[in-house]
Formats: sequence, C-alpha cells, structure tokens
Amino acid sequence: MNRRKSCARKQRFATLKEAQAAASNMARNKAAKGNPVVSFLRAYGCECGGFHYGNTKQIDWDLVATITNRTQK
Ligand SMILES: [Zn+2]
Repeated sequence: MNRRKSCARKQRFATLKEAQAAASNMARNKAAKGNPVVSFLRAYGCECGGFHYGNTKQIDWDLVATITNRTQK
C-alpha cells in the first residue's frame, strides 16, 4: 500500500475558494517582501477531502518581464 502523503505538510482548506484566497494572499505577501512568486499558484481539490494550493511548473513570463524591467533600470 502506497498512500500518497504529498499533502501532509500542506495547509489544508475546507473550500476551493479559501485555498485560492490563501494562495493570492501568499503571493501578495511575498511580492511585498521583494520576493515575488513568478510561477502560477493553483488551488486544487485533494484526495484527502480538503483543498490545497501549490506552485505549478508554469512560469508567468509576463510577470518575470515586469520584474526584470523594473530591476534593470
Ligand atoms: Zn490533501
């Protein structure tokens, strides 16, 4: 039996809406600290019955360009 425990350390939310809200809060906080999240955050329903959010592998290149343009004069 190989139980997937990939979500064990993740924050768990009761609704997809909560997970999405937490994801955007997190992104906002990181951006405020000068460490913006440039990969998309995705909220999803999990087999544990709750909802989580996580980074996708997809990079938000528009956001990267915005940051790069800002830091390189
Ligand atoms: Zn889970």
